Amino acid sequence: MRVSRNFVSILTFSVFLTAAFETTVSAGRYKDFKVIKTKILGVHESSVLSQLAFKSGLDFWSLPRNGKNAILLCEPQQAEEIFKELTRLELRPEILTEDVSREIAEERFKIDQINSAKLKVANWENFMTLDEINQYMDEVVANYSNIVSELEIGTTTEGRATRVLHISTGPGKPAIFINGAIHAREWIGPPVAMYAINQLTEFYDQNSAILNSVDFYIAPVVNPDGYVFSWEQDRFWRKTRSLNDLNCLGVDANRNFDWQWAPDNDMCSLVYPGTAPASEPEIQGLQSFLQEHTEITFYVDLHSFGQSMIFPWASSNEQSPMYPELMRVGNEAANALRTVRGTNYTVHSVTNGGTNFLYGVSVDWAYGVLGIPLTYAIELPGGGSGGFDIPPEEILPVATETWEALKVFAQNAQPTTTRLQWFK
Ligand SMILES: [Zn+2]
Repeated sequence: MRVSRNFVSILTFSVFLTAAFETTVSAGRYKDFKVIKTKILGVHESSVLSQLAFKSGLDFWSLPRNGKNAILLCEPQQAEEIFKELTRLELRPEILTEDVSREIAEERFKIDQINSAKLKVANWENFMTLDEINQYMDEVVANYSNIVSELEIGTTTEGRATRVLHISTGPGKPAIFINGAIHAREWIGPPVAMYAINQLTEFYDQNSAILNSVDFYIAPVVNPDGYVFSWEQDRFWRKTRSLNDLNCLGVDANRNFDWQWAPDNDMCSLVYPGTAPASEPEIQGLQSFLQEHTEITFYVDLHSFGQSMIFPWASSNEQSPMYPELMRVGNEAANALRTVRGTNYTVHSVTNGGTNFLYGVSVDWAYGVLGIPLTYAIELPGGGSGGFDIPPEEILPVATETWEALKVFAQNAQPTTTRLQWFK
């Protein structure tokens, strides 16, 4: 009996998947796409591979970085050639996923299945659409108006508001700013940000001490156009949705900040930095917001994936003046996170001594232009077909452990007058 019941459920699942292939635009466009992983790269190897990436416009899910595996998405026609090239370079490639569309369909099946049993809009058992995120933010604003107020960062290309919640028990304190989903497909960022909102409001009693010394600004989705597009059209959409080229929309928002911005004419590139620094309304808004709120002395940009806490510089491999403090606070946060269930994070500058430089990125801008002394990108854990589609059952554990790191960050927010002046 057991065998036949299992057989029936497998059959039901296969029928669903077949249907999903035919009906889901998002899955269909990735039919037979492969995900390839290299061995852990050294300094020279990561630089060779990033030059190759630059030439071919490949979609790196995990960038070639010193001390890390690179992970990349390949179109079916390119896969064999890329695999050969990586083998020739002795980077020991292995195929993680043979057909990405299947993984997308499975992910959506799981999300729908969990949703059908869901009682509350936010329970960290599932990924949330932008509407669900907004609904939860509305609830929090309504229920905790004594400590929560809503501000808008700006309006996106498609007319959506970029929302930020200010959680504060009173004026005069320094603040930490946390944002998620600057890269649309990195779905684990928003629930981590939402969990912080949840802990500071619904679990205020446990967190009142922290709110006595620091304010929080939390913006779960700073690229809402891209985030919606990643749900509705293209699961692995990374950029904004601005119209620069009819065939290739969008800008890599995390190459659009006004620090060491580097032009690029290839609008189809996944890391296209835009027509000018802060050309994207999303980034213009975020820059102005951070500039105006001078009490923000700690900036955190949530990304996935990589299990690392990374800090300036991304645009140079020189050690930044705050390097010792960035290492100290980063390690303290990583240690606090590890105590929850043993998850290991590495702590280092974005380049990590390598030469794969990134220009126009958030942490460099916040640090270099605004002089916010402590700025980090957290590369949250990956999973699924190669990284972005971490399974829903991992959301709560990731959110819980990351909250421990965010608390350490908040406790290290320096007084309101400490924005650095050296670049002015
Ligand atoms: Zn990212």
